[in-house]
Amino acid sequence: MCQDKNHEQQGFTQKAQDHASGVSTASAELIAELVTANHILYDQGVLDAFGHVSVRHNQYPDRFVLARNMAPGLVQAEDIVEFDIDGNPFNAAGRAIYLERFIHGEIYKARPDVMAVVHSHSPSVVPFSVSKTSTLRATCHMAGFIGTSTPVFEIRHYAGDTNSLLITNNELGHGLAQSLGERSLVLMRGHGSTVVADSLRRAVYRAVYTELNAQIQAAAQQLGEVTFLSEGEVTETVRVIETQVTRAWDFWSIKAGATAKALAEQKSQLV
Ligand code: MN
Repeated sequence: MCQDKNHEQQGFTQKAQDHASGVSTASAELIAELVTANHILYDQGVLDAFGHVSVRHNQYPDRFVLARNMAPGLVQAEDIVEFDIDGNPFNAAGRAIYLERFIHGEIYKARPDVMAVVHSHSPSVVPFSVSKTSTLRATCHMAGFIGTSTPVFEIRHYAGDTNSLLITNNELGHGLAQSLGERSLVLMRGHGSTVVADSLRRAVYRAVYTELNAQIQAAAQQLGEVTFLSEGEVTETVRVIETQVTRAWDFWSIKAGATAKALAEQKSQLV
């Protein structure tokens, strides 16, 4: 399709012109927190060489920060790039940037309450994005945020049936944000999922438990008929259990820090 060819020309270049300022205004604290989020999501098996996590700028709500195009487990502070809400970088300085950065900007545009976005291909979730009979839904108490069903973004509705399945421009990102609506999670057919929250730590928690809930739900459905969380349980579990997010973050960050250190040492030996 002609439209998809445009996506290729825009997206596969992977490089974009920086804003004239050429500098990031994000604080060292925000950047450090995002580096930790990258390491946790890799260490917890949510991100591998692909997938990404962003956080909205805490001073300029129409900007966000996201790593340059690289494996999340290897991200360091100098790899974090600031973007405007349309996905244009401030300080990429010619470095490659993620093809699917439009996921982040379009969700921040559509959802003023969202402060962080995780996009992943975590493997247990993908089957629910293609199943015609099972919807991913809250199966255990840690995953109430999933609710009693999950929307699935069908890219063919926007890009026809010849497409890369990737969100390579703002139009597709807008479509994804529409599918997400007011929810915390949207699946992307044959591709992965995107989860959002009002804080980076909560978004990381939700990304980890989206994958775990998918494993648990698939295992339960193998056994036969399943009792899922009710609407009331969904509301109550989120209200009570998501007050405990910091415990998970503190533990996961210690474990992920050790993994990231070992990876960085191995990388430096290769260079
Ligand atoms: Mn993707």
